[in-house]
Amino acid sequence: MASLPRNFKKAAAYALRDPALQRALLNVKRGFVVKRESARANLPEFDTLRDEARAIRDHTLTHLDLYLEAYERKVTESGGHVHYALNAAEARAIVLRLCQDAGVRLVTKGKSMVSEEIGLNAHLQASGVEVVETDLGEYIAQMRGERPSHIIAPVIHLNKESIERDFRRAHPNLPPQRKLDQAGDLVAEARQILRGKFLTAEAGITGANFLIAETGSSVIVTNEGNGDLTATLPRTHIVIASIEKLVPTLEDACLLLRLLARSATGQDITTYTSFSTGPRRSSDPDGPSAYHVVLLDNGRSEMLGNEFADMLRCIRCGACLNHCPVYGAIGGHAYGSVYPGPMGAVLTPQLQGLDRARDLPNASTLCGRCEAVCPVAIPLPDMMRTWRERDFVRRNPALKERLILRVWAFAAKRPRLYRALSRTAARVLARRAGQRGRLRRVPFLKTWTVTRDLPAPQGETFHDIYARRQRSKGQ
Ligand code: SF4
Repeated sequence: MASLPRNFKKAAAYALRDPALQRALLNVKRGFVVKRESARANLPEFDTLRDEARAIRDHTLTHLDLYLEAYERKVTESGGHVHYALNAAEARAIVLRLCQDAGVRLVTKGKSMVSEEIGLNAHLQASGVEVVETDLGEYIAQMRGERPSHIIAPVIHLNKESIERDFRRAHPNLPPQRKLDQAGDLVAEARQILRGKFLTAEAGITGANFLIAETGSSVIVTNEGNGDLTATLPRTHIVIASIEKLVPTLEDACLLLRLLARSATGQDITTYTSFSTGPRRSSDPDGPSAYHVVLLDNGRSEMLGNEFADMLRCIRCGACLNHCPVYGAIGGHAYGSVYPGPMGAVLTPQLQGLDRARDLPNASTLCGRCEAVCPVAIPLPDMMRTWRERDFVRRNPALKERLILRVWAFAAKRPRLYRALSRTAARVLARRAGQRGRLRRVPFLKTWTVTRDLPAPQGETFHDIYARRQRSKGQ
């Protein structure tokens, strides 16, 4: 693919001009938004579950230290090992050492956003360990040298034709006459290649949707069954997950799974929901002989004590991306971050620093749909606003900007003056717009109106309309 500019604004402008991307993004609405709505409508207790899910996540985060200890105890009792990584570099080093100690040359991998966050694949490959993604979307992204553009649908930005071209380029033995124009043909081709990899890999790496403190289990959900083959066929299974993935009990995990599937893909339950607990026991017919869990912090502990703690409730369903008008217009790659959309706009400045990610919380209409659909009720717009505020204070805005805000604050604190000024402004703007009813290049709103017209005020302010209605009600 043509590489996108690194600057967010340029990348977004580029994405808006890409007709293939724009067509592909329609699938987000058709494929996810509609299905989620119908799944939600078919579950009358959805809102009650949402409240319970939020309470479970908050409770776990408040007592995270205790649940981490309980989880580690259970993993150890089942014969596995837990490794703690403070940051991305530590996590990469631990996974590499585990691979090297076990003489691993080939790793199969299930879908894991945490592994994307720490840049695991490149690190292992640079040290001579071959890594093969086994989730179909991730496999295609890896083939193209791209990162996923969506947290649950890595190649939602592509159409069948471009994927077929990628397969023909990456699979040189593919006969030209072999049909690949249907999704099923592409799956069959990938399956043929991946089968050999599953059978020869010495280690399998998976992420975890949840980690259960009560049992020491990790849970993954997939629709392809690739996660199970990754976890059970190789002799070593490595789970990599961030610390906030913990839940206290099996029952808690099951409640969250009900919301996850419906919010993510609109399914009642994902096709495969798999629980892994330690290495193979003597009575097990299959399974790995070594089981490791790498727990990543990477800034999460710091979040526990700051204004972004609620973000740690996230169960990575992707619903906020699917319902975001900005994500729907530019797709995931323009964000330049592993985590795109509203959840990424909150998480990325925490992970990468506000300097590098300041555009992301600003790339939002603050329409509130993300919070409305979030199955764990994360106040995403409030948190984006907090980042904006920090950014504003930090970058020491120009005198002109500060003066405008001071004048506005002065007026806003004096209701009579504010009403008189807004009434005058509405009239002036309405007159300036004339018959056209729209304004171009409005002073003080130059950046906003350079690419779009401002609809002219109707001549009456909100306060006037409200007062008039109240008066007529009283008569
Ligand atoms: S923030 Fe909420 S809606 Fe967005 S991915 Fe996380 S859980 Fe899902």
